[in-house]
Amino acid sequence: MSMQLAERMSRLGTETAFEVLARAKALEAKGKSIVNLGIGQPDFLTPEHIVEAAVKALRDGHHGYTPANGILPLREAVARDIHKRLKVEIDPGNVLIVPGGKVTMFFAIMMFGEPGAEIVYPNPGFPIYESVIKFSGATPVPLPLLEKNGFAFTADDVLSRITPRTRLLIVNSPANPTGGVSPKAEIDKLVAGLAKHPHVAIMSDEIYGQMTYDGREHVSLLSYPEIRDRLILLDGWSKTYAMTGWRMGYSVWPKSIVAQAERLAINCHSCVNASAQFAGIAALDGPQDAVRKMVAAFAERRRVIVDELNAVPGISCVEPGGAFYAFPNIKGTGMSSREAETLFLEQAGVAVLSGTAFGAHGDGYLRFSYANSVENIREAMRRIRETLARAGSKAAQ
Ligand code: PLP
Repeated sequence: MSMQLAERMSRLGTETAFEVLARAKALEAKGKSIVNLGIGQPDFLTPEHIVEAAVKALRDGHHGYTPANGILPLREAVARDIHKRLKVEIDPGNVLIVPGGKVTMFFAIMMFGEPGAEIVYPNPGFPIYESVIKFSGATPVPLPLLEKNGFAFTADDVLSRITPRTRLLIVNSPANPTGGVSPKAEIDKLVAGLAKHPHVAIMSDEIYGQMTYDGREHVSLLSYPEIRDRLILLDGWSKTYAMTGWRMGYSVWPKSIVAQAERLAINCHSCVNASAQFAGIAALDGPQDAVRKMVAAFAERRRVIVDELNAVPGISCVEPGGAFYAFPNIKGTGMSSREAETLFLEQAGVAVLSGTAFGAHGDGYLRFSYANSVENIREAMRRIRETLARAGSKAAQ
C-alpha cells in the first residue's frame, strides 16, 4: 500500500513566480546574465531602525511565545497607523498579527469556503486566491479585470457575479499583477450595491495601499462603516517596509469572527516571531521617509518601463496606477504569454511572468515587476527589443 493523500491536495495550486525564479537561478548558475523583473518584492533593504528594533527585542529577551493575536503594543500601533492614514477608528481587539499577508487570505478563504459556496475573486489576480478557493472546495467565480478599464474592477461587474451562494468577495486594489487601482466612485457604488447582499463577506487585500502614483488615491474599504461588520482587511509590512522575508502581516476582522480567526492562528502557527513584532512597531511608529523614498523610486521606474514597453512594436501597456507591476498587452507580437515568458528568459535573459500565471484572463499579457534599478530596466528592455527583432515578431515584420 502506498501513501494516500487527501483529495483536496490535488486542487491546491501554486505561485509560478517561484518556478520562474528557480529557472532564472539555474540559468545564472550556468553563467547566463539574467535581469530579474519577475520577482514581486521591493529591491530595498528594510530600514535600519526597524532592523535595530528586532535586534534590541532579541537582546531584551523576547524569545518566547506571544499572545496568538500578537502583542498588544503592536495591535495598538496598527490601530494608530490606520487612524493616521485612513482617519478610521479601529479596535486593537479586532486586529490579528499574522506571518505575512498570505495567511489572512488563507484564513479568510478557509473560514468561508466549502463545497456549494461561491467565492468571487479577481482574475487576473494573485494566484493564491484561486488556489485556496479550490482547496477549500468552494467554487471560484472569476471577476475579469479588463485592460479597457485600466484593470480596475467596476461595481457592476462585481455585483452581477453575486448569487445567494456567494459567501466571500475578494477585492485587491492597488492590484497584483496589473497595477490597477479602483477609483472611489466605483468603490462607493460597490459598497452601496452590497447593501442588497448582506450575506456576502468581503476581503479587501490592500497590501499595496501605500503605493499609488500620479496623485491616484487609495480608497480603503475600511472607510465604509456600513460594511465594517463583514469586512476583513488584509495588509502588512512586506511591501510597504521592504520586509517580505520577515513574514509580518496583519488583518482587521469583524468583531463577530475575530475569535475564529485567532483560533485558526492557534491551530496553525501559535504566534508570529516575537522580535519581528517589535520591528513591526518601529516600522509603524517610526519615520516614514524610507517609505516615501521607495515609492518615489518606483514612480520613476514606472515611467521608464511603461514608456519603454510602449515603444516596442507589438506591445502596449496601460498606465499602472499602483503597486510595482506593469501588465503589458503582447498580443501584437503573435506570441502566447507562455511563449514570450520562455523566449524572454532563455534568449533575452530577462525574467518576467506570463499573465496566465495569474489566471485565465491574464492570457495575452506579461507581468513586469519594476522593483529593479532604472539601469537594469533599460537593459532588460534593450535585450527584449533585440530578441524580438531577431525572433521576427509578427509586429516587427
Ligand atoms: N496580496 C497580494 C496582492 C500580493 O501580491 C502578495 C505578495 O506578493 C500578498 C498578498 C502576500 O504578501 P506576504 O508576502 O505578506 O504574504
